Amino acid sequence: MEATFEDHCTDDALELYALGRLGGKHTEALEEHLLICEPCRERLDETDIFVRAMKGAAARLRLEQKTESFAARVARAFQVPAFPVWAASAACLCIIAVSAVRLQQPAPAGASIAVSLHAERGASQTVAAHHPLVLSLDARGLSLGKSAHIVLVNAGGTTLEQADVAPDNDQVHARFSRPLDPGDYFVRICRPGDADPLREFALRAQ
Ligand SMILES: [Zn+2]
Repeated sequence: MEATFEDHCTDDALELYALGRLGGKHTEALEEHLLICEPCRERLDETDIFVRAMKGAAARLRLEQKTESFAARVARAFQVPAFPVWAASAACLCIIAVSAVRLQQPAPAGASIAVSLHAERGASQTVAAHHPLVLSLDARGLSLGKSAHIVLVNAGGTTLEQADVAPDNDQVHARFSRPLDPGDYFVRICRPGDADPLREFALRAQ
């Protein structure tokens, strides 16, 4: 189709011209028309402004895409953990912090600490080290009679303290004045004169 610009320039032709994409022959015809047509020169000015704005927007878009992909590459390179991992870590830290606070019982130096030991199998009670202990031992079902023999031994089985006490209903109370160094211990309930424990409780001082 022969393109002449005796009529006014089309929007498409002006846009292509502004973009520098109009073919040589069409460019000549368009420029000839522009020489004689003020309205089309004004339309070309408007088209130029539009094209520059579009080019600016396209450039900004490309820049944003580059920035995004750069950020994505950085994230991959450093393997930024997903939120749930952080959340789990934070929860662990909270539990540790709470445990640490609980272990640091603010008992004054030398003050006794009351500890209840229950007969749950495998349960180990943690107590603060370096304090005398007042123990309440679960004696349910032991048929102790009028007297019980309580023994505190260390992890190696060496007896540290022992006492004969009168059971109080289903409990036996014993006071051990020796402050415990950090470590594992066992408290045994025995019948008087019988070394075999009827019940044994694990105790960890720390
Ligand atoms: Zn015109």
